[in-house]
Amino acid sequence: MDRRYFDSVETAPRHEIEARQWARLREQVQHTFARSPLVRREWEKAGLSPDDIRSIDDFKARAPFIDKAAIQAFRAETGDPMGGVLAGDLSEVALYGTSSGTTGDPTMFAESWTARGEMIFTPRDIWETGLRPGDHLIDVQMVIRSIGRLYFQDMGATPIFFHHDASDVARMLSACVRYRPTWMFHISSPLIYALERMEAETKVDLRDAFSSFRGVIYGGEPMGRHNRDLMERWGVPVFEFTSLGDCGTAWECQARDGFHAWEDLVLFEVIDPVSGAPVESGGRGEMVCTALVDKVDPLIRYRSGDLVRWTNEKCACGRTHARYWPLGRVGDETLVNGRSVMPTDVWTAIESVPETAAGLFQIIRPQRDLSELKLRVGYDGQPELNDLAARVAKAVEAATGIRPNVELMPNTEILKFGPPHKIPRTTRQ
Ligand SMILES: [Zn+2]
Repeated sequence: MDRRYFDSVETAPRHEIEARQWARLREQVQHTFARSPLVRREWEKAGLSPDDIRSIDDFKARAPFIDKAAIQAFRAETGDPMGGVLAGDLSEVALYGTSSGTTGDPTMFAESWTARGEMIFTPRDIWETGLRPGDHLIDVQMVIRSIGRLYFQDMGATPIFFHHDASDVARMLSACVRYRPTWMFHISSPLIYALERMEAETKVDLRDAFSSFRGVIYGGEPMGRHNRDLMERWGVPVFEFTSLGDCGTAWECQARDGFHAWEDLVLFEVIDPVSGAPVESGGRGEMVCTALVDKVDPLIRYRSGDLVRWTNEKCACGRTHARYWPLGRVGDETLVNGRSVMPTDVWTAIESVPETAAGLFQIIRPQRDLSELKLRVGYDGQPELNDLAARVAKAVEAATGIRPNVELMPNTEILKFGPPHKIPRTTRQ
């Protein structure tokens, strides 16, 4: 079996992974303390020096957390676009990428052409999900993190580029039929919605268009039931990927049972978001990540704001690293008269109504505590709006026990609230 891009550390025993982590962590702590102004300031505030850290346990017990607000505050104070995170020389930075800015203030990432651990993908994941040398692949990633495509080049696969936009879906489909690509990065809910409309309007054979694929990578947000059914009907071999605490990405393997966090590249922790105490395997909490290889803009004990369930049990695929399942953003939780509502709680209910089956919705949340649940929901076609709002409200009430106030908007309009690959699931207004 060809295992060219399989790395033996993927299935290494725990103690081997930890030995590698410690060697890298020790070096990383020295490196960032000396070079990253934000890390130095936070560590000095905590009265801590790199020499105080003599083990991974020391680090987990003593290293101060850094979060997005701290980076933004440092940026506002100093004018440093990287918010004090840059720990390499500017000459090593090939370009700045940004996050999609779903929460309103995009994070800057310094990208390097040459520092391999700095990149947002690993060849391991690309290999596991089916890309092989000599393949054609469909590349609809966004320019904001464009550096990932260097891995396709490295593997000797040939990307065909498209805009991450509904307007380019027809061109993409004709390339699928003409070049029979094997792999695609990446599909998203807005693109799936565009495909669904195209299927309804033109009767295009999507099963045929996707028949040559071994892997189609999906990301941006969790996939709802409706889109999962479409993937199945169109025969799309979909693998999801998600953010690994802004230190990279984590992908599904062939077993599709959670996202693999490569612990030799990132020190992965899960903590109680209120007390900061560690959450054991099997539990839920906030994901905290420390970049172990990235020397350009490494995040150190970064509180991701992502709520996850996690396990360190060996995966059916044989890999031994941590796996996790995202539950939503810590900041997405809404309390309606004291009851917790996450976007995932209303998602399936909205998808169950035919006109709103695309699942394009937002929770309108000016603050965390509300006396009424307000939803903005996208619809298809020309339905009778009062009747539709009542049916959506009824479905959501059945799922959550809370009767929402529903504002309707055509799907094509609600998509305008998003960056190209998703819409924010909570919004202030
Ligand atoms: Zn696995």
